[in-house]
Amino acid sequence: MGEGLAPYAADEAYSRGRRYDEAPPMHRGEYQRDRDRIIHATAFRRLMYKTQVFVNHEGDLYRTRLTHSLEVSQIGRSAAVALRLNEPLTEAICLAHDLGHTPFGHAGQDTLNACMRDYGGFEHNLQSLRVVDELESKYAEFPGLNLMFETREGILKHCSQRNARSLGDVGRRFLERKQPGLEAQIADTADAIAYNNHDVDDGFRAGLLSLEQLREQPLFDAQYRAVQAKYPALEDRRLIYEIIRRMIGVVVNDLIEETARRIRRAGVASIEDVRAAGERLVGLSPGVEEQHVSLKRFLHRHLYRHEQKLEMTRTAQTIVSDLFSAYTDDVSRMPAEFADAAAELDEAGRARVIADYIAGMTDRFAMRTHAALPD
Ligand code: MG
Repeated sequence: MGEGLAPYAADEAYSRGRRYDEAPPMHRGEYQRDRDRIIHATAFRRLMYKTQVFVNHEGDLYRTRLTHSLEVSQIGRSAAVALRLNEPLTEAICLAHDLGHTPFGHAGQDTLNACMRDYGGFEHNLQSLRVVDELESKYAEFPGLNLMFETREGILKHCSQRNARSLGDVGRRFLERKQPGLEAQIADTADAIAYNNHDVDDGFRAGLLSLEQLREQPLFDAQYRAVQAKYPALEDRRLIYEIIRRMIGVVVNDLIEETARRIRRAGVASIEDVRAAGERLVGLSPGVEEQHVSLKRFLHRHLYRHEQKLEMTRTAQTIVSDLFSAYTDDVSRMPAEFADAAAELDEAGRARVIADYIAGMTDRFAMRTHAALPD
């Protein structure tokens, strides 16, 4: 392994390894093994029925957390290959980054966080790490998926100082203010590029965003003009696709070129240099960054806070908080594996088990379970 990789890429030969020792894989690399374990995880399959922005039942063509994760991975891998970084590691991080997401998108996460206020809170990013480290239980010899350090480092994108202290090796960089490897940084940026673009598509499809509104965004408008000039008679649906594919192209190319520039300038020669670099080496050039952030803010204003979404948010709040109270009143309402674990713990431990159970639910399972609660 490691052939063709840039010297600052993650290389399994110099990895900080797995939490539990295992024999090396025979016909694949260590990070490929991580990717495969993630794809086989129960939490990964559940992403299919979890909200990205639009609730799963609102329409079959909207992104779910699963298709979002696949788009993140596709963007991340393109950039990783172009920069001679570790592609399977980038892919593994991208596919795992949202494993800890609750049902009902950010509304679900915010509600669960409020329910957990007195017990350390709930944060989906930290939960993704908890899923791969502890909650997936399918291997005979260890809890979780026993992933490589660099994969876990990439999954934990951000973390409070308080949480970092309890996380051991993977929390240390937040205390020492170090950066993660380039693959983790690529996965993080690929996430933002993916949702900025697919949410334009989904928002337009839903009739919540109009062409006129979108044209106020320079990133969109530049491509709108280019496509219009070349194909003046294109119908709206194809026009939007053509604009979005070009927007992704512009931003991803900029990401690759700007990151290559920063890597050269910083003179990094190893992943340890990358970690100690003092700033992120992966990023967009100032002009494109400004347009990318502007589009992100626009989506916040016009899509994520749109009236129809607010209605969904209220429903999600009711479902998640009712479930949390119901299980707090009586842990035996949960399946035996959760109920038994909760019964042996103090109040905070019980709350955490309840949060784990609720966070794992898909949208439709949460709705069904809520409907079946006694009055
Ligand atoms: Mg994401």
